[in-house]
Amino acid sequence: MNTVIYMDNNATTRVDPLVVKEMLPVLETWYGNPSSMHGFGGQVEKYIQQAREKVAGLIQAQPREIIFTSGGTESDNAAILSALKSQPEKRHIVTTRVEHPAVLNLVKGLEESGYSVTRLGVDRQGCLDLEEVRRAVRRDTAIVSVMAANNETGVLFPLKEIAAITREKGALLHADAVQIMGKLPFSVQDIPVDFLSLSGHKLHGPKGIGALYVRKGVRFRPMVIGGHQEKGRRGGTENIPGIVGLGKACELAALHLDEENTRVRALRDRLEKGLLASIAHTRLNGDKDNRLPNTTSIAFEFVEGEAILLLMNEFGICASSGSACTSGSLEPSHVLRAMGVPFTYAHGSIRFSLSRYTTEDEVDTVLRETPGIIEKLRILSPFKEDASVCAPRVNA
Ligand SMILES: *Cc1c(COP(=O)(O)O)cnc(C)c1O
Repeated sequence: MNTVIYMDNNATTRVDPLVVKEMLPVLETWYGNPSSMHGFGGQVEKYIQQAREKVAGLIQAQPREIIFTSGGTESDNAAILSALKSQPEKRHIVTTRVEHPAVLNLVKGLEESGYSVTRLGVDRQGCLDLEEVRRAVRRDTAIVSVMAANNETGVLFPLKEIAAITREKGALLHADAVQIMGKLPFSVQDIPVDFLSLSGHKLHGPKGIGALYVRKGVRFRPMVIGGHQEKGRRGGTENIPGIVGLGKACELAALHLDEENTRVRALRDRLEKGLLASIAHTRLNGDKDNRLPNTTSIAFEFVEGEAILLLMNEFGICASSGSACTSGSLEPSHVLRAMGVPFTYAHGSIRFSLSRYTTEDEVDTVLRETPGIIEKLRILSPFKEDASVCAPRVNA
């Protein structure tokens, strides 16, 4: 496994060794329960407080506005459900067609139980139309939930402008900011969202830990009900190692922001330009400028993403496809479908997501090996009219 070329950082990231180091004392020595009456448990409370300050620092929030959760999914769920519970008279939700399943599937269930939902579309570049947002928000809109950056294309959404609309119309705004954290600056002073979700494992922290920012003054109704932890806002004994790790990861993320925007961006651009230039029938999915510095989603026409990934795997290259071959039919991702990417391209879409651990050499290897992989697949499996059927796996 020492030759892995990891370009799937939007799925999960390597834990920074400094994060691991920070977590060890609370695993090995300070294992007490912060709710205990004795001093040994009480010691642990200061670790939580320090971590809360660091998480708040990354988004310029106040520490008491941060609630620790089990990850991005729980934060997304808790924000939306709190908005509905705290405003029972409002029964309308606005979101987009390209959200993470943590939002999409929650909202689908809410719709089935009687809430009304407006799902905003995106254009061919994957961008939202602000006028459509304005039209969608009604007097009975409880919450608008929009991601800060899309996980598949990296495309950024105009949350500052959306916040102006939700404020004017009296709706709450939730930002799923899981993908933007540590890649571009995001300040809740500058962008006045009411709720914001972030996740540890997407920014070189541990899995199973995340945070929800709730703006001071916004009513919060807990989703996980139990003890008085997190000031009664999230029950359950705290995940202390996770919390400490998330705090350190946020502190490091702030320190690495410049690098993401310069070195990582340059590597991403070199990879993207090289692939588009050296392979015919390729195109970029998503807006070229308005996106995260680490992500590129490239469509290789007439081949299947799953087959590309299998051949890349032989070189240790880890990326992700924009489709999943399940139950015998290839369904392009909901994001690429919402963008109207033609199906001959959508099926062959690969997302490369880089990180501060990505090296020049790794980019060179991907640039060297990919043209041959695509050529091989195009020879083996020339484009057929019926591309909606899964082709047999080439090396199976
Ligand atoms: C990964 C991700 C999530 C879910 O976070 P988990 O911590 O894995 O639950 C939510 N939203 C976006 C945009 C993501 O990329």
